[in-house]
Parts: sequence; structure tokens; C-alpha cells
Amino acid sequence: MPAKRQPARRTARSNTRRATPARRRPATRKHPARRVKIPRRGPLHARLGAWLALRVIAPMVADRQSVMQSRKDAAILRATHKGCTTCHGNGTIYTKSKKTGAWTGSKPCPAKPTKEKVSRWEINKAARVGAEKRSGLVGWTCPCGKKEKPRYRDAKAATSALRAHEKHKHGGTSVGGTWYAQQTEAAALAPSKPGPATKTRAKAATA
Ligand SMILES: [Zn+2]
Ligand SMILES: [Zn+2]
Repeated sequence: MPAKRQPARRTARSNTRRATPARRRPATRKHPARRVKIPRRGPLHARLGAWLALRVIAPMVADRQSVMQSRKDAAILRATHKGCTTCHGNGTIYTKSKKTGAWTGSKPCPAKPTKEKVSRWEINKAARVGAEKRSGLVGWTCPCGKKEKPRYRDAKAATSALRAHEKHKHGGTSVGGTWYAQQTEAAALAPSKPGPATKTRAKAATA
């Protein structure tokens, strides 16, 4: 709503503005969609349109952005670990319990990167196209049929997403869902030194 005009104060205000210009500038600006409110009145189609934009489209855009960021991060790890003997170019390694042999989690490859710099173009391409675009990321499946494609940076994040689903749909008790990892073809074929997990093996191993 526009503020009421106060012509008497105009000169005084512009003086203050000149005196403290830095103060008037907002330091951090929120995302444009966040500042918009759903109108409570007005034509129905306009209210519906605003509701759709804010409650449906904005979260979708945010979700897409977070998926792309994970994929780009994974692509950077894959590119900087190309030919790495520890992770076989996957960038992430999967840990296994020495006692039970079960998959316990994942972590970024501790080995020194084989390559220091990668072009932004190369990363964008690797994160967007091809069968390897989700390699190095972790997803989850639940026996109820719900699943998420690999989009998490580690097993821990994927597990908490699974737990959130269990809380929402299964009363907080697990019905046997697990995390699973996608990895590069080279890492999947490599002999299991640090414990690379193929999709099916990781699925079977963690409960
Ligand atoms: Zn590596
Ligand atoms: Zn479920």
C-alpha cells in the first residue's frame, strides 16, 4: 500500500537521504517472489494466479535449483577426480562396516584431486546431460513405492530425507526404506576397494 503523502516533510526527508545514503540501501535483498503476497481481495483469477505462483511454482523452482546445485557439485568432484585411483572418478566413496560388511555411509573422496581446474561449461554440461549426471549423488527408496532419484550429496542427507518421508507417511517407523547411490561406470566396475556401492548392492545392504 502506498504511504500517505506528507508534502511538508519532503525536504527534510531528502536531506536525510543525502546524508546517509548507505543506510537506505537494503543490504540483502530477498528473492523477488518472497516479497510478493497473495492478495486477499480482487478478482478470483488474480488471487488464484498469485496463489499458484507463490505456493506451487516458487517451491518447484527452489527444488530444481537445489537439485541442480547438488548435481553441479557432484560434477565438480567427478571432474577433479578423473582417473583417481581411490574413487575411480566418482568423487564420492561409500563406506562399509568392517564387521558386518553393510554399507554405512558416504564421504567425499579423501584423495588429492587429479585436476585442479575445470571449466564452468564442462561442469554445466556434466550436471545436465548424460547417464552420469547423478553419479556421486545419493537417493532413497521406500517399499511403499516412493523414491527420490539421487540428488543428495551424501548418504546422511538422503537418509534424513527418507526419515522425513517415514515420519510423514508411516508414522515415524521405517518400513524398510534405504538410501542408494549412483556412481560412475568406472567406479561401479572397479574392484571394491573402499567399498563402491552399486545401486542394488547399496540398497540391499543398508536397512
Ligand atoms: Zn578420488
Ligand atoms: Zn514409504
